[in-house]
Amino acid sequence: MLHRLKTDFRLSIITLLAASAILGITPFAAMRFLQGNTLAGVVDAAILTGILLTLSYAWVTGDTQRSGVVFAVIACGGAVTVGTLVGEPGLFWLYPCLVTTFFLVNPRLAALLNVASVVTLMVHGGAFRSDVQMWSFASTALVVSACAFVFANRNQDQRERLEHLATIDPLTGIKNRRSMDQELDLAASEAERTGLPYALVLLDIDHFKKINDEHGHSVGDDVLIELVALLRQNTRKADRLFRYGGEEFVLLLPGVDGVGLKAVMNNLQQVLRKYMRGPGGPVTASFGVAILRQGESVDSWLVRADAALYEAKETGRDRVVFSDPYRAPELTADTA
Ligand code: GH3
Ligand code: MG
Ligand code: MG
Repeated sequence: MLHRLKTDFRLSIITLLAASAILGITPFAAMRFLQGNTLAGVVDAAILTGILLTLSYAWVTGDTQRSGVVFAVIACGGAVTVGTLVGEPGLFWLYPCLVTTFFLVNPRLAALLNVASVVTLMVHGGAFRSDVQMWSFASTALVVSACAFVFANRNQDQRERLEHLATIDPLTGIKNRRSMDQELDLAASEAERTGLPYALVLLDIDHFKKINDEHGHSVGDDVLIELVALLRQNTRKADRLFRYGGEEFVLLLPGVDGVGLKAVMNNLQQVLRKYMRGPGGPVTASFGVAILRQGESVDSWLVRADAALYEAKETGRDRVVFSDPYRAPELTADTA
């Protein structure tokens, strides 16, 4: 539960707002019933029920987008209804709603909801003692909305930047190991569900240290960038490329096995042999390939690919080794 609150921003906002709303509104609902204002009490009770249902829906389904919209509509609609029913004291409830809409739905919808709430109250007019009060309310609501918009936008921007920093390798622009862990888990569950084959390729540049030592680190960096460009150009859209660390990369290939996989690997090896060049001449790479077995864990899958890569290195480099016991069938002329 804590993990979901930490990783799902919108769910944490919905939960926080729901808890605050329940704590804040419950005493007022009770008070309104005690004072004999049954209609306002019923409205408060309906708002509380709506919030509780939306909160449960968000937790059970994980659909925080829809829950966010429903939550924002309940909050604004509720605040406007309370304002029209109890007058001035009810108006104050709209302020927290105007702020929170920007954290629950996209900025355009939030702005629309806020304007609609304020305009409805102004057209109804019953909640205000005078025109001056009504225009003061409208102006302050506008300022509050504008501040919330700026703050929520900046927050979202920073969150996206942080996510980018946490998942993208800055040198090559491809996804890093952290993203890989998540995508391998997803691939394993997809394979379990649909039976789609998944191949994992561990690729390591041969004698890369030598390039760095002889020509400098920045030349080594250029080789890494060039390798990534070549791999991207020569793989399908559905294939996933990750920087595993240093000069090691992982390719996740969905939907290929057997002869098809061997053809893909053969092609990649030929492309690298033909186009990968460093200042000291051709640059080669070794590959370890493993197809996910039924019910196998991601760790074991990676270990098998790593063992195959180790074998490729041990047996002379610049080669593709398929993990035991899986061996790709011999390539026939029409698949080569
Ligand atoms: P092998 O054929 O056995 O793989 O030999 P190797 O020299 O490629 O392997 P080794 O693991 O000994 O060396 C990897 C080198 O990669 C060491 C490290 O300095 C270098 N390296 C790691 N990350 C980067 C990077 O981002 N840029 C550059 N230029 N070098 C890096
Ligand atoms: Mg290495
Ligand atoms: Mg290497």
